[in-house]
Formats: sequence, structure tokens, C-alpha cells
Amino acid sequence: MNEKLQKLKQEVLDNLAIIKDFYVLKDYEVRIMGRKGELAEILKDLPSLPEEEKKSVGKLANDIKVELTAKFEELKNALSKKKSEGFFDATLPGEKISRGHLHPITIIQNDLEDFFTSLGFMVLDGPELESDYFNFEALNIPKHHPARDMQDTFYIDMKNQAGEYDMVMRTHTSPVQVRAMQKYGAPLKSIMPGKCFRSEATDVRHEHTFYQLEGLMIGEDINLSNMTGILEATAKHLYGKETKVRLRPKFFPFVEPGVNGEVTCFICRGQGCKLCKNTGWLEIFGAGMTHPNVLRSGGIDPEKYQGFAFGFGLDRLVMIKYGIEDIRLFNSGDLRFLNQF
Ligand SMILES: [Zn+2]
Repeated sequence: MNEKLQKLKQEVLDNLAIIKDFYVLKDYEVRIMGRKGELAEILKDLPSLPEEEKKSVGKLANDIKVELTAKFEELKNALSKKKSEGFFDATLPGEKISRGHLHPITIIQNDLEDFFTSLGFMVLDGPELESDYFNFEALNIPKHHPARDMQDTFYIDMKNQAGEYDMVMRTHTSPVQVRAMQKYGAPLKSIMPGKCFRSEATDVRHEHTFYQLEGLMIGEDINLSNMTGILEATAKHLYGKETKVRLRPKFFPFVEPGVNGEVTCFICRGQGCKLCKNTGWLEIFGAGMTHPNVLRSGGIDPEKYQGFAFGFGLDRLVMIKYGIEDIRLFNSGDLRFLNQF
């Protein structure tokens, strides 16, 4: 009888190791431990044993019963927990999925794209990895020209078809001007928004990756007042109807003449405040009449056509609009910052 009991115990322990279902386990428990179960079946003849044997077999049977009962309980607890985890209550409210939203720079880019499209401008795109030719030479910035020092450039370790290292991460959106002229010719009205790169030491005002939106208008008899008109309309669109524009001379190699564009501060309306550093003016764009050499690069005859170009730093527009003091927040991926928009 001892042997039978030991054999049953081992068999039950082996089976418990592979049972994974709560209800299968409960059935099995009844089959072994129940009043008419296998354990009871073995012990059926216990009363007929001699007194000494009865004692020792009875003790063994009790030990096994206690041990197996504990094992069954343990496994039942584990499986019933699993069972409740798998339970699905269709009446509970659903889990709320949080939706993302556009980045503040994308919001202002979309807004300006809509505005310029309404004025008849095309929206064009260009490669971010550019050739030295389109990024500099075609824009009247020849090799060894001092103007190249104004832009700290990422030069890329990649040869062109002629075997020269001439690829750069574009330092401005202006290469798209030349690409657009070559593709569409004159007359032409387009804007080119996009990402630009400079090898800057980053601080609150400088970032290695930033966004520009550039515009180009070419036609016969295009002059400085056309440019001023477009820039004034843009400033009013951005900062309200009373906004005034002031142009001051500035050198850019791809325009002649070139200007820095300022608008009246939209906080103090020209009275002077912290945002405009008490000047009453905010510098927001660069512009100028397209240089004849740039028109030639684009395959356009400067004797017949004139044009103007302008460019905004989209990061700067957003910083001014929301009072953001650190440009590095835009690319930080920090949700505490981004969730505010
Ligand atoms: Zn102000």
C-alpha cells in the first residue's frame, strides 16, 4: 500500500506540472482527492490491515494528502488569477487614446503656405543634401568667396560624378530658387519652405537644424515696390492690419540690393517693450532684388526679367509669436514643451 501511495503521489505531482487550465485542474482534483477519488480507493483496505501497519500507512497517507492538497490550492490560485486577467468586460468604458498634434513650426508653415498659395505662389520642395554648386556657386557665392564664412557648413564625405567632394547639407532654402528657375523658367512665383543645417555651436538662439521659408517672384518689370507690397501683406497677415514694415540695407550675396526687414512690434505696437528690446521693431526677414548672376544660373535672361526673393526663419517666427526663449526646444522632442501647442 505504501508503494501504491508513493506512486500516486509522484503521478499527481507530474500531472500538476503540466496542467495549465483552471477547470481541468478542478476536475483532476476531484478525481484524485474526492470522496470516491483515487486516494480514497487506495485507502479503502486500510481498516483491514494489522494494527502496526495501519498506523504507519495512515501517517503516510495523511502526509501525502496534506502535501497534495497544498499543491492543488497553490496551482488553483495561480490559474484563477490568470483567468481573471484574461476576463474582458465589454461594459467598461474604452481606453482613451491620446492624439498627437502638429508641431508649432509645422502650424506656422502650413499657415504661410495657405497665405502664399492664395496670392498665386507655388509651394516647392528641394533636396536637403545639396551640391556645393546649388547651395553656393549658383547663388553668386563662388569658392573662396568671403560670404561662405557667414555660414558654418556641414560638408559631406561623398564624391560627385566628377570625383569631387562637393555635397553639403543645405545651409539655406535658396538652392531651391535656382532649381525652380531651371525647371519652370520665367515668370515664376513660388515659396520654398524646409529644413536647413549649419554647423553651429548651439545656444538659445542658434541650432544646427532649423527651418526657413523662402519666396521668389520673377517677371518682367518686377521692382522693389512689388517686393515691399508682398512683404507688407505678409507682415499684416502674421501680426495684424496695423503692422508696418521697415527695410534697411543689408548684404546678401544672392540679391542686389539686399535688405533686412523689420515689422512693428505686435506686443507694444512700436512703443518699446522687452520683446523688441525697446526698439519698437522686430527683425523677421531678409530680402532683396535677385542678383543677375543668380538669374543667369537659373537660365533666365536678366536683361528681360527681374525678380525679388525673401526669406523667413520659421523658428524665429514661432519664437516671437509664443514668447519662446530657447530655439533648442523645437527639436528636443520634450512633450512638456510640445503639449502646450
Ligand atoms: Zn515691443
